[in-house]
Amino acid sequence: MPLPHAFTVEPHDHQDCIDTAIDVATQICAERSMRFTKIRQRVLTLIWSGHQPIGAYAILEALKSEYPRAAPPTVYRALDFLIEIGLIHRIESMNAFVGCTHPDERHTGQFLICESCGAAAELDDPSINDAVQRSAGELGFLAQRQMIEVTGLCPDCRPNG
Ligand SMILES: [Zn+2]
Ligand SMILES: [Zn+2]
Ligand SMILES: [Zn+2]
Repeated sequence: MPLPHAFTVEPHDHQDCIDTAIDVATQICAERSMRFTKIRQRVLTLIWSGHQPIGAYAILEALKSEYPRAAPPTVYRALDFLIEIGLIHRIESMNAFVGCTHPDERHTGQFLICESCGAAAELDDPSINDAVQRSAGELGFLAQRQMIEVTGLCPDCRPNG
């Protein structure tokens, strides 16, 4: 049940993306007997408010309108939970978070990030993963976690040609 990602979708009703993300998350939490609390739902909704990664501080600011007592630990606990069950990814180079477009599969993060508009699209190509593992292995390196972030221009921002 892949969700739409940033670069495949024409102008679209983004509310559908948000609704689908919440539905999928609700289902995953139910399957794993994990509590999808109001605050977790709210944080996930904020992250899905666009296809651009969003920082923890912006999430906290948005949350404060509904939860005036929300503090950084509130947000970080929710983010940790969402990362842990694979509903979001942390984009290391931006120190920001983005919704996962195929949260029902275990995978490493592979992202294309637009330098112009900030949209981030997720790749899920096991052959990239395998190539890194193989090359690392040839150097005697045991790779444990991969985060691949490629910057460039998305279809909307690149010059036509
Ligand atoms: Zn959308
Ligand atoms: Zn993902
Ligand atoms: Zn762009």
